[in-house]
Amino acid sequence: MRNMSLMLGRIGGIPIYVHWTFSLLIAYVVYIGVINQMGYTGVVWLLALTGAVFICVLLHELGHSMAARKYGIETEDISLLPIGGLARLEKMPRKPTQELVIAIMGPMVNVAIGLVLFVVFIVGFGTDFNLDLLEIFEAPFTGKKFVFLLLIMNISLVVFNMIPAFPMDGGRVFRALLSYKMDYVKATQIASLVGRALAIGMVAFGFFEREMTMMLIGTFVFFGANVENKVVSMEGALEGYKVKDLLRKRYTIFRTHETVRDALSMLYKGLERNFLIMDEHNSLEGIITSKLLLANKKTGLDTPLADIMNTDIAALDTNSELKEVYALMRQKQQPIVPIFEEGLLMGVIDYQTVSDFIQQKK
Ligand SMILES: [Zn+2]
Repeated sequence: MRNMSLMLGRIGGIPIYVHWTFSLLIAYVVYIGVINQMGYTGVVWLLALTGAVFICVLLHELGHSMAARKYGIETEDISLLPIGGLARLEKMPRKPTQELVIAIMGPMVNVAIGLVLFVVFIVGFGTDFNLDLLEIFEAPFTGKKFVFLLLIMNISLVVFNMIPAFPMDGGRVFRALLSYKMDYVKATQIASLVGRALAIGMVAFGFFEREMTMMLIGTFVFFGANVENKVVSMEGALEGYKVKDLLRKRYTIFRTHETVRDALSMLYKGLERNFLIMDEHNSLEGIITSKLLLANKKTGLDTPLADIMNTDIAALDTNSELKEVYALMRQKQQPIVPIFEEGLLMGVIDYQTVSDFIQQKK
């Protein structure tokens, strides 16, 4: 379990997670089947259709991942949520063509699936497209209807994902196209603004037409567009600065055998919030964050830091770009990054320092 998710397995080395709320979706689908009096076969059929849609969503995410891999960008993981899928790439490329290709390869997968289903339909069932096929809750629950509805779902996935607003793929495509003409921060601002305008339109339309789903999607798009703009403008503020410009050379080190109590007493002095942990041979073993310390405050003051420290940590070089550190901190949820130069520990960069720096630059 990670973030309340269950790992299904790996595809091409990428861990695939499914969120626990998925079980609610399954229960909901069964419930819908039952109240629509679909019968046993109907409910199983509906569940199979839901499963098939999510396989298409998974393939869509894999489309992004495989495109990213072509540019040397790996995918941390793919999560399936009842509202859709999410591929977490280790970073987003700043080159317009790369972003464009990565963003568009998801929907392209659904276009391809759609074409295959279309051919399957024609070959298997002829050209008899009639509106009865859209009656998802009405018998007969045939293979013909299954293929047809899955085809419609794939078309909807393409249309929905190509809405030109963050966090949809269409938003990324739009930004990539804009960034051929202008700088990335400006392109993001415009794409974000258009996205938010669209979102407000969706909410308004949903309100007047009493379309709850439309209102929800609009709200989701609005906040997504906002977040993207914030993150990119913050990265813009860090543009041109190196790690060494904000390097903190004085920092407290704890040893692996020292306890939560020791680290908490330092935390309460209020000067540092996150600490490096070394063994007796001065080799860096992990980090401990204020969050972790406070979480262990009640249960184990005498717990050695070695037992709770975060050992999956990233380090950078003094010559790295500051925005690279910032991206890494957010990506890995790692608020302190050790900085090395030719194998020697030179200091640390703290999240607080970076965000103060961004604040005073505004
Ligand atoms: Zn996508």
